[in-house]
Amino acid sequence: MIDPDMFRLDTKVVRGPEEETDPTTHSHRFPIYQTSTFVFESAEQGGRIFSGQEEGYVYTRLGNPTVKFLAKKLAFLENADLGIVYSSGMAAILSTIVGLVKTGDTVIVSEPFYGGTYSLFKILADRFQIKFRYIKCNGFHQHLKEFTSNPPALVYIETPANPTLDIVDIEETAKITREWGVPLVVDNTFATPIHQRPLELGANLVIHSLTKYLNGHGDVIGGAVVGERDVVEKISESQVHLGGSMSPHDAYLVLRGLKTLHLRMRKHSENAMSVAKFLESHPKIERVFYPGLESHPQHDIAKKQMHDGYSGMVSFILKGGREAGVKLMNSLEVWTLAVSLGDTDSLIEHPASMTHSSYTTEELEQAGIPEGLVRLSVGIEDVNDLIEDLEHALKKL
Ligand code: PLP
Repeated sequence: MIDPDMFRLDTKVVRGPEEETDPTTHSHRFPIYQTSTFVFESAEQGGRIFSGQEEGYVYTRLGNPTVKFLAKKLAFLENADLGIVYSSGMAAILSTIVGLVKTGDTVIVSEPFYGGTYSLFKILADRFQIKFRYIKCNGFHQHLKEFTSNPPALVYIETPANPTLDIVDIEETAKITREWGVPLVVDNTFATPIHQRPLELGANLVIHSLTKYLNGHGDVIGGAVVGERDVVEKISESQVHLGGSMSPHDAYLVLRGLKTLHLRMRKHSENAMSVAKFLESHPKIERVFYPGLESHPQHDIAKKQMHDGYSGMVSFILKGGREAGVKLMNSLEVWTLAVSLGDTDSLIEHPASMTHSSYTTEELEQAGIPEGLVRLSVGIEDVNDLIEDLEHALKKL
């Protein structure tokens, strides 16, 4: 028997970590166990399952075979010991903080990062007195060292960062957090395990919004944490009681989407590189942010820690700033004007008024998110159609 852990990544995406075949019916694909509860053979057995003396399912919020299979698959792809799946990326983030941090603790976060996460951290700071300290992505690990005499309870990074595509050096950051004995959590939503595997670089936990590339088809909201056993086990208790469990049907959809992750990511990355280069050469564009471009300030770090491409997210600023950006978004015909990312089709949005509208103007400036920034999620269409559409819209400015 070949050990599935020995498979190359493309094979891992398609097969493993175990046979999907249902032992009862021999259905080729893993079934959707669409049920809220599970029946006990006897009252005694119910008691044994509840107390953990016997393995078995009880109630879908606590565990469900389809959801569990997805968690195993995600852990397998990230080379993690264990995984937990959630009803959203935000549920995964909340459960992580609740599981690993308590009132009065400090969490150090790389900035900028997703606006929804920023809002959640504001609530946790205001109502539960957790202290969040923000350090810019650029030079993050050098500045992190300044906390050595008083280390935080947790270090939380998002790289590439939403929406500026800033990069944090995961390996250098992990060297510091491991010395401190503090968990390092990486939101790997933008890169996916195809392009970046933070656990192999020393991180303890990876978070995903499954809503994005991992599902990839824009029809599910979901989240996950995968990582080292002891860290994930601390979080699993909070998952059960916070209640953000994923529905079995959504888990099935993500399992289906995952089968083509490697093919989609390569095409997203290839298209994004072409779009980024086109924009960089255009006279009406002031600046392009894409980790694959040599002009990206942390390109060398991205090159070191990302594999096989730089994913499909590109941001840029037009010479006419926010006003020109709004005009451009309203003129496009092929690109879809919508938030979210990682869908098959190409999406465009304005972070300051949409995904990052929870930041005040001063906070945007402080976090390094330019007001005029436009964010692209480059899809898997023919890239010529995408570039021609941008070209036509830019002509109208
Ligand atoms: N992390 C990142 C980097 C995101 O971009 C998002 C959503 O856009 C989330 C987490 C939250 O995920 P969800 O919308 O699935 O709750």
